[in-house]
Amino acid sequence: MSAKPDTAVSSKFRGKALLTAVSALLVIILLAIAVRKNPAPENSIPVQTAFPVMGTIGRVAIYAGEKELTTATDIYRREFDAVSAVFSLRDQESELFRLNSSAAEKPFPCSETMWFLLMRAKQAYEETAGAFDITVKPLMDLWGFYQQKKRTDPPSAAEIAAVLEKTGFDKLQFNEAEKTVFFTVPGMALDFGGIAKGYAADRAAQAVSAAGITAGVIDIGGNLRMLPDAPGGKEGFIVAIRDPKDRNSVLPETLTVKPAMAVSTSGNYERFIELNGKKYSHIISPATGYPAEISAVTVVAPTALDADIFSTACVAGGEKTAELLRQKYPELQIYFMR
Ligand code: ADP
Ligand code: MG
Repeated sequence: MSAKPDTAVSSKFRGKALLTAVSALLVIILLAIAVRKNPAPENSIPVQTAFPVMGTIGRVAIYAGEKELTTATDIYRREFDAVSAVFSLRDQESELFRLNSSAAEKPFPCSETMWFLLMRAKQAYEETAGAFDITVKPLMDLWGFYQQKKRTDPPSAAEIAAVLEKTGFDKLQFNEAEKTVFFTVPGMALDFGGIAKGYAADRAAQAVSAAGITAGVIDIGGNLRMLPDAPGGKEGFIVAIRDPKDRNSVLPETLTVKPAMAVSTSGNYERFIELNGKKYSHIISPATGYPAEISAVTVVAPTALDADIFSTACVAGGEKTAELLRQKYPELQIYFMR
């Protein structure tokens, strides 16, 4: 990511008000309206569409006409399908499925796309001191996040300790010249659930703007990437946040996000499991093997890829991880909800 993301939080959202607001949220960002000093009636309201994509909701909101909306949605679906073909865990034809089934036997030769995200995940593992770790898949399985028939009790400490042997990014072996990855421990598996949607949002946003549609927002399940222009060249987009108590309304507090920037929210709001009456987040703390206790984190960053990674990492690693990231990227905006 670029070292100096723009800061774009409205003054209303700063300081204590921000903390109060954010800590009160179960955050899903869903609405974007351009901030205009002189609203022009013809395009001050975006045309938008929402549709299910891979267990979540996709959205396109643009400041243009219905024809452009159809074009943008087609482009979005094309990009999303291309990313799914590589990283889907459900699709047995995906590259990731093949990688997970064979990389313990022999080094797996990666596509350019797989290699790119694998190297970004490696960097993320290093810059978060291990809080972001795509090798958590065996722990996700143990806790029952992917099973049709969920378990009823949490796993025992002994079960967790045994599965921890099969996790850890440092147990992957890379050959950079050949672009291969090898699992040094049998039973290892990768999970790009905390990174692939942000990547897809960036790709879709880039392809949509390359087609000449340059004002609006692309959203993949709470990973938002703003297109490069605000209508009329104004300051940015107001991003409204869904009210946790009433799914049909939004909170009065908003974030203003500059064009081309990204916002992502990670947490246990929509995806969690319940064992013995207790809710568990689908984000795992790789150090302990237990689900993270933090409910949600919202990050504003220069790309949806970074926002996706960092929001997941901060849920997994808490304030310590946020501090590491703030030191490296001083202008990153990170908001916790407990
Ligand atoms: P979502 O948008 O689906 O809520 P997030 O971006 O919040 O996804 O990431 C959660 C997903 O990331 C989990 O479902 C899992 O696939 C993966 N994951 C869980 N724990 C970690 C971790 N510590 N590091 C990296 N990825 C993780
Ligand atoms: Mg994420």
